[in-house]
Amino acid sequence: MTNRIFNFSAGPAVLPEEVLREAQEHLLSLPGVGMSVLEISHRSKPFDEIIEGCEADLRQLGGIPDTHRVLFLQGGASLQFSIVPMNLLPADGSADYIVSGVWSQKAVKEAKRVGGVKIAASTEADNFKRVPKQHELTLDPNAAYVHYTTNNTIFGTQFHYRPDTGNVPLIADASSDIFSEPIEVGKFALIYAGAQKNLAPAGLTLVIISDDMLQRTPSSIPTMLQYPVHAENKSLYNTPPVFAIYVMRLVLRWLLKQGGLAAVAKANQRKADKIYASIDRTGFYTGHAAADSRSNMNVTFRLPNEELEKKFAKEATAAGLDGLKGHRSVGGIRASIYNAFPEAGVDALVQFMRDFEAQNG
Ligand SMILES: *Cc1c(COP(=O)(O)O)cnc(C)c1O
Repeated sequence: MTNRIFNFSAGPAVLPEEVLREAQEHLLSLPGVGMSVLEISHRSKPFDEIIEGCEADLRQLGGIPDTHRVLFLQGGASLQFSIVPMNLLPADGSADYIVSGVWSQKAVKEAKRVGGVKIAASTEADNFKRVPKQHELTLDPNAAYVHYTTNNTIFGTQFHYRPDTGNVPLIADASSDIFSEPIEVGKFALIYAGAQKNLAPAGLTLVIISDDMLQRTPSSIPTMLQYPVHAENKSLYNTPPVFAIYVMRLVLRWLLKQGGLAAVAKANQRKADKIYASIDRTGFYTGHAAADSRSNMNVTFRLPNEELEKKFAKEATAAGLDGLKGHRSVGGIRASIYNAFPEAGVDALVQFMRDFEAQNG
């Protein structure tokens, strides 16, 4: 317990210590099974129980309605950038994309290979320090769907509202804030997330898709890329990432034990507020995100110069606060504080920020 440092990595990211301990305890032999979860068949009864339990826990935690399917896929959020349009964007159709950072830009790039793309709004001119407001969105009522990124992992901005798209299906890349707060899943046609930030180890991609969206897939695309194939086969068309699904289930149970998403959101807000307050305390640190777009998951800030930023990251690592160097496209410091990130780590960072400022400010 004593040799774990505070891991501020943007992803793969920290997992709850309780979860790691349980996985460790049962790694050699799952209770009642006599084999490791690393060894069991995805067609076996013990795994059926794991994947079905995982889905049941997801439905309970996220309030996922019966109108929506849960898919356990691979290829990361990055493959979803391609699969979403391949399934849902007709070649002669057009989709609206809200561009709020690097990940939305990558989603646009892949969608353009498939069909028409209209940029509903972009905050690139503001160096992505904020997300677009509802009144800034230019939405096409005939669009196949509207796509947006709920939390911009690199820039540290987050949508604090759900875009109103009328009758046009809404699709969200929620990789870096999924289940960090309550979400009305029924309002979305599709939500996808690489699981390695908030929910599980790497190798698993979660897709939540409404039944309506399963009717549109052209049969010409490769079988493995068709959502309906994975839905019909309950994510067992081919071998799923067994271990990642198992760990996700442990994480979901941990989240339920915390009191569900409302309680998790409260804790996340409290953690983020502490760091933002310490950024705002004096002029030494400058937050990257505009006040109304600040992310509760990735807190980005600058120091007076790059030399001090390097020094900050280096000394923080030496003090047991790791992974704070910002993404190369923003620079500065990024503290990723997902669901599983302990509040004690936030307190340690806040103290470190004060001490660093006292010595260097
Ligand atoms: C990390 C991330 C991605 C990329 O995820 P992969 O699983 O590595 O493909 C996409 N979108 C967002 C918002 C992310 O944070």
